Amino acid sequence: MRHIAVIGSGPAGYYTAEACQKLFGDAVRIDIIDQLPVPYGLIRFGVAPDHQSIKGVSRRYEAVALTDNVRFVGNVRLGRDLSIDELHDLYDAVVLATGAPHDRALGIPGEDLRGVIGSAAFVGWYNGHPDHETLAPPLGGPDVAVIGVGNVALDVARILSKTRAEFAGSDITAPALDALDAATIRRITILGRRGPHQIAMTPKELGELGHLARSAPQVDPADLPPVEADAALEPGLRKSVAHLREFTTLPPKPMTVAFDFFAAPVRIEGNGHAERVIVERTRLDELGGVSGTGETYAVPAGLIVSCIGYKTPPIPGVPYDERAGRFANVDGLIAPGLYAVGWARRGPTGTIGTNRPDGQAVADRIGAEVAGGSGKEGRPGLDRLLSARGIDIVTFRDWKKIEAAEIARARDGAPREKFTSMAAMLAALAD
Ligand code: NAP
Repeated sequence: MRHIAVIGSGPAGYYTAEACQKLFGDAVRIDIIDQLPVPYGLIRFGVAPDHQSIKGVSRRYEAVALTDNVRFVGNVRLGRDLSIDELHDLYDAVVLATGAPHDRALGIPGEDLRGVIGSAAFVGWYNGHPDHETLAPPLGGPDVAVIGVGNVALDVARILSKTRAEFAGSDITAPALDALDAATIRRITILGRRGPHQIAMTPKELGELGHLARSAPQVDPADLPPVEADAALEPGLRKSVAHLREFTTLPPKPMTVAFDFFAAPVRIEGNGHAERVIVERTRLDELGGVSGTGETYAVPAGLIVSCIGYKTPPIPGVPYDERAGRFANVDGLIAPGLYAVGWARRGPTGTIGTNRPDGQAVADRIGAEVAGGSGKEGRPGLDRLLSARGIDIVTFRDWKKIEAAEIARARDGAPREKFTSMAAMLAALAD
């Protein structure tokens, strides 16, 4: 028997559990430990609430969760409720699948002003993450700036643009929906420090921006390279750039999502709260990098959402790569018996599906490097340790109760109304 602890119940965690289950069959017991009483990590809290079809992958994870050799252990935080050394004593292998839930800093003056918010916090807020329940983003001004030209920037701009009716069928939380409905935004400026050929937005998601009810994207034709240059792009990027070309011709709507390319933020200004971001015009070099031209200008914005990437929080006792913002590892191996998968291994890139081969690779490594039959105790040992500390674990069956309560209180047409605090989640369980 191999006893494996997977920390984190997002896509990386469940794909790893699935791969271990296939590889070791009945000769494995896997505990998926999560600090929250609810599973699925990024699927629940990262994927946009209006992209429900992507969230459907959680059904696959549920199939894994419902097997006998895998169990969900919610409401248990590594580093607070138990240590990495204690896990090593109990399990043959420990796999960190903790994702990258913290925002990378912009590193410019003024980023601590009220109204400057990282995308992890902003996305967490509209997706009902308990850590961001009280965020209260300032939505009462006409201008918003979104920094970065990746898919998260697109999610943020689209969510800020949509009308209440366009959220039909989504699971955006009721408080976020009400706040967005009362917002007075007229212009969202998406700031890209490089040019249209350097965007990290995928075509399907970018195309959505051209079909919103009250909001129209806007691109300055002068920013686009000559159309012949698109031929050299990789096909997906070429399609995305084709959308940007379409956006130069769209008629205006009451709200504008303006792409401002070659614009690097250099500081944020305001009297106690963000009022504008100062950007420097940049110039591309032949290798796709940029340098500043010295020309600066102000983009007004009372809310500034930086969508420039994420980092994995360190865990005491686990080697950490500060520069990369993730655990120090070689192909998933951190130290003997200790592995990382997903964003905690390779940083915040790739799609949800990228985690599948990741999980498989770590399962294979465990098969080759970690012998079974070591006599470690696994589950009963964990239960004894947690119960001695007075920690009530949340099981998968418990989660199904929370889920049923969320479904029961959903508004018309919505799949669920999420509980947005730990207390409310645990209270639903007690009912
Ligand atoms: P990303 O794709 O890496 O994009 C980050 C953006 O931030 C880039 O445009 C980058 O520009 C810019 N940036 C970084 N540092 C900056 C700075 N200091 N100042 C200004 N701009 C800066 O990251 P992401 O958007 O957070 O997405 C993370 C991953 O999740 C990606 O793989 C993404 O595709 C995926 N995702 C997918 C979806 C979906 O619907 N399919 C939705 C959300 C996320 P440079 O290129 O110049 O560095």
